[in-house]
Amino acid sequence: LAYKAPLDDFLVIIDAVRQSAEPHQGAEDTSLIEAILQEAGKFASEELAPLNWTGDRQGARRNEDGSVTMPSGFAKVYHKWCDAGWNSLTANEAYGGQGLSHLLASCVNEIWSSANMSFHLCPLLTTGAVEALQAHASDHLKETYLPSLVSGQWTGTMNLTEPQAGSDLSTIKTKAVRGEDETYHLYGQKIYITYGEHDMSENIIHLVLARIEGAPEGTKGISLFLVPKILPDGSQNDVMCSGAEQKIGIHASPTCTMIFGDQEGATGWLVGEENRGLNCMFTMMNNARLNVGLQGVGIAERATQAALGFAHERKQGTPLEAAQKQDCAILAHSDVRRMVMEMKTQTAMGRAICLFCAHMMDLSDQDDLSNEERLYYKDLSALLTPIAKAFGADIGVDIASMGIQVHGGMGYVEETGVAQYWRDARIAPIYEGTNGIQAMDLVMRKVSLQDGAVVKKAIAELKASLQELANKTQKADLIAFVQDVTKALQELLLSSETLVQWRLSQHYDHLGAVAVPYLKQWGLTLGSAVLVKAALLTDQHDQKNRSDYYQALAAFAVQTYVPQCQALHEIIVKGSDGLAAVDHPVFAL
Ligand SMILES: Cc1cc2nc3c(=O)[nH]c(=O)nc-3n(C[C@H](O)[C@H](O)[C@H](O)COP(=O)(O)OP(=O)(O)OC[C@H]3O[C@@H](n4cnc5c(N)ncnc54)[C@H](O)[C@@H]3O)c2cc1C
Repeated sequence: LAYKAPLDDFLVIIDAVRQSAEPHQGAEDTSLIEAILQEAGKFASEELAPLNWTGDRQGARRNEDGSVTMPSGFAKVYHKWCDAGWNSLTANEAYGGQGLSHLLASCVNEIWSSANMSFHLCPLLTTGAVEALQAHASDHLKETYLPSLVSGQWTGTMNLTEPQAGSDLSTIKTKAVRGEDETYHLYGQKIYITYGEHDMSENIIHLVLARIEGAPEGTKGISLFLVPKILPDGSQNDVMCSGAEQKIGIHASPTCTMIFGDQEGATGWLVGEENRGLNCMFTMMNNARLNVGLQGVGIAERATQAALGFAHERKQGTPLEAAQKQDCAILAHSDVRRMVMEMKTQTAMGRAICLFCAHMMDLSDQDDLSNEERLYYKDLSALLTPIAKAFGADIGVDIASMGIQVHGGMGYVEETGVAQYWRDARIAPIYEGTNGIQAMDLVMRKVSLQDGAVVKKAIAELKASLQELANKTQKADLIAFVQDVTKALQELLLSSETLVQWRLSQHYDHLGAVAVPYLKQWGLTLGSAVLVKAALLTDQHDQKNRSDYYQALAAFAVQTYVPQCQALHEIIVKGSDGLAAVDHPVFAL
């Protein structure tokens, strides 16, 4: 199935999210953004998308000797990808990177996920490893490893999960024993390691969480180590892939069981300080969380393109209003149009939230802002990261499923290719912290940042920027959109205030019960707000086609999703009232 990068949509949403934080516009001008997105779209359509289906069919294969063979074409396209410089977009210039903004990198990452999610997981993890090393590694480690990771000659992995340590990393058992020099010997098993082994690069650099002998119990005793597959002297390290999972989707992405130290111990180097490993890993995980949200958006975009194409082609039935029987394309049926509208609108909302979050990350790093402003943007991006991850991941699954529905029986059979989108998307709500864990992060840590001042300020700024745009238009329908979304923002504020109170009074039962509905309220409200802005801005800039398009999406969001925000608010303020206790008969086995 063909894929075309939605360049117009990126430009409209970038404009809308930047308007929220005027006068801080971020690093790149529009013409540079347009040029890079065009090139990325071309590479995605011509090189990556054609391998998506064959990659799914063939899968990555683990061999008897522990090596992993990638599906045909993957290694070749990976080298082209590195040669074209796509691996190095966000890394520091000092290590060969291009230092581009999170905002631009996020658009590009969505494109890669649409084209071939399994392929892109490899560079996605390398980018995370680069960020963690840039932030926490010693100069020696940086000089030895970063240039080859940034160029893509070597790839990176993230090794957290163990059989007994999934969401709860405090139980990690992998052991690190101090060596005679500055090295450590690691012993342990990690499971579900994405691209833990493959044949696309010369070396694989594993970032591994482990416990130094004698370290305290729990999360306070976990350290981060760099463990290369091939050691600097060219010898093989004591690391091996002992198995690869059979999975629902992302078949071309190897998910490996990794054994460290089966013999003499795997040689590793400490990254950052001893016992501060989780902090270092969070640098990598935050980046990865936003990118997983974008995976969902990318799959949703691809599923929408396929469904729309099919809805134009497939002839079935007669339109309700037709006087006599006539074959029509299924797009003529209101329910099919409803599905396509949901697909278009939710995809745009997910994109809006992820790009909004990415822009706030950029502003938190912007030199010409005061420390206070930077801190606010840092907190705001921290608040938005779990929302971007979970909302994007969820719509990926929902929209891919709706895409199958639009295709009818043709969607359920593999031959059409749309079933793959759904299978691939299904992992996004699970890895990088399940969506349940994201929602808990939102209500336990983020909503109460600065005693609730961050959430309050963010909502106030959204309202003000919408009002500013509304003041510049005479169009009654656009003004009505602003009023409706402003009401939804007010309800979000009320929900947030309730949660801050519960957080301060330690009502954890209420917080846990409403975490997911609250995250959803944020997603639907913020997504709708940015779409309304996009409608207003495109109208203001006299961009006729774009403005018709975004007015339709905004109208649909206001009619369909804004009322859901009110219902969510009503659910949230009831707290844990409807949730039975653990020992209630409803949970008896
Ligand atoms: C294809 C794939 C690729 C992966 N890639 C990697 C990788 O590269 N590196 C890596 O380290 N790991 C990787 N993982 C592991 C992944 O991150 C974990 O599976 C995930 O974090 C969930 O852990 P778990 O599977 O142990 O589920 P559990 O932690 O057992 O969770 C089960 C359920 O309980 C819920 N739950 C658990 N604790 C809480 C809580 N405190 N509050 C509320 N709800 C809770 C969860 O939300 C979930 O619904 C990968 C997994 C898969 C399937």
